[in-house]
Amino acid sequence: MEKKIGNIRVIINPAAGRGESVLPVLNLSMKEAGIKWHASITHEAGEAIKFAKAAVKEGVDALAVFGGDGTLMEAISGLMGSGVPLVILPGGSANIMAKELGIPQDLKEACALMSQVPLTMKTIDVGQFSGHYFILGVSLGFGADLIEGADRETKNRIGFFAYFLSAAAALKKAKKAVYHLEIDGQKHEVQGLTCIVTNTGNLGFSNISYDKHIDVSDGLLDVVVVREANLSLLKLMAVTLLKRERPDNFELVEHWQGKDISVSSSPKQTIQYDGEVLKEMPLHIKIIPEAIRVLVPKEKA
Ligand SMILES: [Mg+2]
Repeated sequence: MEKKIGNIRVIINPAAGRGESVLPVLNLSMKEAGIKWHASITHEAGEAIKFAKAAVKEGVDALAVFGGDGTLMEAISGLMGSGVPLVILPGGSANIMAKELGIPQDLKEACALMSQVPLTMKTIDVGQFSGHYFILGVSLGFGADLIEGADRETKNRIGFFAYFLSAAAALKKAKKAVYHLEIDGQKHEVQGLTCIVTNTGNLGFSNISYDKHIDVSDGLLDVVVVREANLSLLKLMAVTLLKRERPDNFELVEHWQGKDISVSSSPKQTIQYDGEVLKEMPLHIKIIPEAIRVLVPKEKA
C-alpha cells in the first residue's frame, strides 16, 4: 500500500507539450488530489537532474515530470538511489517510456493517476554506462543516425513519425560494421547495421512493441543487432508496426539478453542514448535492476 502523495515537485520542460495549457490542468488536478505542488521550469539541458536532486533534499513525497523522454531520463538520473517515486506526465513527441508503462498520453488523464486509491507503483530498471544513466536504450550506427538526422522542429511537429522519415534517409547511407560484444562474459562478433542495447521494447506508438519479451522490469537489457537493411527488413518493420505482432524473421536480427554488456564497433559508429548523441567507445553498459518506482494505472502494476 502506497501512502497518499502530500507534496510534489513538478519539473516542467516548457519546450514540451502540444500547445495545451499545462499550468491550469496541473492546478486543477493537484487541487482535486489534495496535493501541495511546486514547479521548476527547465531552461537548458542538464537542469532537470539538478531539480530532481534538490527535490530529493527537500523531502518531497514524489517528483513529477512534464516533458519527453529526454527530460525524464535527466530527472531519473537525479532520483537514483533516493527511493522517491516518479510521476510521468507525457509532454514530448514520442513519450516512449509513458507508452511502455501504459500511462495516458492526455495530461489530465495522466494527472488523474495521482488521485487513485490506492496508488499503484511499478518498479523499472535503468541502464548505466560511464556515468550516464539511460531509460530507453543505447544504439550504435543506423539507429543513432536516425536520432541525429531528425531535427527538433520536425520531431515536435510530427512526433515519432519524424524518426521514420529520417530512417529512410539513414537507410540509404547505412554502412555495415563489425560489433564486438561481450554479454555476461560471452563473446560475440557480428556484422550488422546497428546494435541496440535496450531497456524498452516500445517503438513509440501506443501498445506497439518490437518484441513483447522485452520487459522494462525484468532486470535484463536486450541486445539486438540488425544485420541487413533490405526489403525483408522493411517488411519485418511493417509487420511489427501494422499487425502488432512479434517479428518472426530472425535471420535479419540477432537478439541476446544480459546484465553486463560491452560493445564496440569497427569502424567506429555514431552512438546515441535516449536521444543524446555522443562519441565514446567501447561502451560498458550495466543494468541497475528495480532502480525507480513509477506511478502507473492499476491494471499495469
Ligand atoms: Mg529488460
